[in-house]
Amino acid sequence: MKKKLEKMLDTIRMEARYTASYTGRATFDKRVMQAMQDVDRGDFVADSYKSQAYDNGPLPIGNGQTISQPYIVALTTDLLDVNADSVVLEVGTGSGYQAAILGKLVKQVYSVERISELAASSEKRLKQMGYDNIQVRCVNGYRGWQEKAPFDAIIVTAAATRIPQDLIDQLRPGGRMVIPVGLPYTSQELMLVTRNEQGDTDIESVLGVVFVPLVDNN
Ligand code: SAH
Repeated sequence: MKKKLEKMLDTIRMEARYTASYTGRATFDKRVMQAMQDVDRGDFVADSYKSQAYDNGPLPIGNGQTISQPYIVALTTDLLDVNADSVVLEVGTGSGYQAAILGKLVKQVYSVERISELAASSEKRLKQMGYDNIQVRCVNGYRGWQEKAPFDAIIVTAAATRIPQDLIDQLRPGGRMVIPVGLPYTSQELMLVTRNEQGDTDIESVLGVVFVPLVDNN
């Protein structure tokens, strides 16, 4: 397992170098890489997928959803520029893997998931693993989590057709949001949304990506 995890980290480092001209980051923060090492991706997939858990690809997690590829998890986490005081919102809990990575790095993670089975199973999993700074809630993440706002960072792990205004509003001035935007299963762009201290928003495209859709129907 240790060898496989090290290989996974090597692949992330390599892909970070390959994509540096797009992302502007040839290496990721040491703490991000440490979290990628400390959180065992194998614990977040079904037994039948454990042998592939350290490959650099997405894997099914049930209900037609997927856990993102490790490189993308590392990149998106790195782009958030979080620290030990950060309060973060994740939209799309899925397996809880991304939430766990963030849980290692920040003060508090709030994560929302629209599919109740996934919200329940990831909440249970994260609790069993001892994460006491992650709260999961089953709601439509297009509206964020108003009661817990503002957030220092927001990460959306499913592709939206537009950047939800509610999420921008819940971002603290100086905060950062990473969100894939585009059409379902085709061309999407990973966007970095930053709010300056005056509250003005800047949006830049980081990389072409493919995520499952962010569904807006409840
Ligand atoms: N971050 C997850 C990846 C999950 S895939 C992980 O680490 O495993 C994206 C998830 O977003 C899916 O579970 C999907 O059900 C969820 N999702 C899609 N639309 C959503 C919405 N509007 N609100 C909340 N969650 C949503």
